[in-house]
Amino acid sequence: MPDSIKMKAAWIHAPLDVRIGDTEVPSIDDSKALIKIKTCGVCPSDVRVYTGARKNATYPRIAGHEWTGEIVEVGKAVEGFAPGERVVADWRVICGECYYCRRGIFNYCSNMGRGEMKGGFCEYGYAPARNLRKIPDHVLFEEASFTEPLACCLNGANNSNIRIGDDVVVVGTGQIGLMHVQLAKHLGGRVIACDTIQSRLEKAKEVGADDLINVSEGNPVEAVHDLTEGRGANVVIVAASATKAAETGLEMAGICGTVNFFAGFYPSNPITVDPNLIHYKQLNVTGSHDFTPHDFTTALKLIAHGTVNVKTLISHRLPLDEIKQGFDTVIDLAGVKVMMEVDSDR
Ligand SMILES: [Zn+2]
Ligand SMILES: [Zn+2]
Repeated sequence: MPDSIKMKAAWIHAPLDVRIGDTEVPSIDDSKALIKIKTCGVCPSDVRVYTGARKNATYPRIAGHEWTGEIVEVGKAVEGFAPGERVVADWRVICGECYYCRRGIFNYCSNMGRGEMKGGFCEYGYAPARNLRKIPDHVLFEEASFTEPLACCLNGANNSNIRIGDDVVVVGTGQIGLMHVQLAKHLGGRVIACDTIQSRLEKAKEVGADDLINVSEGNPVEAVHDLTEGRGANVVIVAASATKAAETGLEMAGICGTVNFFAGFYPSNPITVDPNLIHYKQLNVTGSHDFTPHDFTTALKLIAHGTVNVKTLISHRLPLDEIKQGFDTVIDLAGVKVMMEVDSDR
């Protein structure tokens, strides 16, 4: 690929200012592959860069990290990958040598290689070969674009002590909550989905939720107790970044229950907690953040085997030129998952 070739890219110039422009097609070093991007999912973290809610974001920049594509060139040192192969890229380039990597907590690598990857809302990206996974033939690019958010959910599910037969409440049924519903179901949970948006609750039902609670109609804590013979839930996963959701999540949990604050808060927002709630119920309060390389591999496997239906979560498919509409759709909560079809030639 000659260096001078330009590609189309969605540049965020400043908060709320995204425009299609161009940039150089990247050149790759020996360890990397150059990839023609096919799809890139819009993640709330991309939207936070767009709105300016993400502190320390620098501009101009090209967002997007949930991308897939087709390899067009591989570096001399790359083995096991060839042009023409369909791949999804794990944006977390870990060092393998820091304190956390050596403890196996790869999601907290201290030396994440942020410059080692490029791509997203532009026509070409690159990644070290070790961060690529081959997409099985029967899996669509748009499905494989969920590998990253599903890997985050998988890390969360594995960190929530879900046991077969448990009553599991998922608070918030956006794309993340809807993946949690499916994972909890597969772990053997009886899943109670909570949201304020009825269409999302119906989607939760479609993907396996056993019971639905519309939080805007009555007291959701009472509703959970009514559904669990007064005990409260064994596991509560808070997948909504609202203080009320976090506070009620703690109240929904029963004795020896686990509450996972899965969603981050932007901006940070303190909640009011009665420590007795945790003390007298012996609650296990935890959180989950990002994922490991193994979670990424496993997430793609779950998609490939149909364990998690991600395709049904796509509410909007848009060409790259309509990136602004893509961001606005997420901001307005107007859909579930927005998928940018960077290259519609599939
Ligand atoms: Zn993401
Ligand atoms: Zn590391």
